[in-house]
Amino acid sequence: MADIFSERKRSEIMSKVKSKNTKPEEIVRKYLFSKGFRYRKNVKELPGKPDIVLPKYATVIFVNGCFWHGHDCPKGTLPATNTEFWEQKIRSNKQRDEKNEKSLVERGWRVETIWECELKNKTIALKTLEALEQRLKNRENDNLT
Ligand SMILES: [Zn+2]
Repeated sequence: MADIFSERKRSEIMSKVKSKNTKPEEIVRKYLFSKGFRYRKNVKELPGKPDIVLPKYATVIFVNGCFWHGHDCPKGTLPATNTEFWEQKIRSNKQRDEKNEKSLVERGWRVETIWECELKNKTIALKTLEALEQRLKNRENDNLT
């Protein structure tokens, strides 16, 4: 099929698509940044390459897609076809997540997992993020005492 859009038009469309669908990890980052938290992104030196690393709080945050990481929610439901394949695939993803979490904890990190479905609309996201913020602040107080 011929490309019906000019290069300029196409990039215009793409940028609109992008800004409409903010990635879940961006929602978490933006919130934390607005609250004064400073972090590193996608730290590949750490197991599982956490999406967000807060050294001051000794905390790493994974923002997980419900399907790929096998969340126990409607979005984590396996497809009706090729079910066995997906079952195996998702199971091995979950095992890898667990292994990563374990080695992070062994290195002294606290691991937070935020699920995609916990950010699915503004009301739910705000609740999730406020709770996360509170846990981080409690940790800061722990460290001071
Ligand atoms: Zn979920």
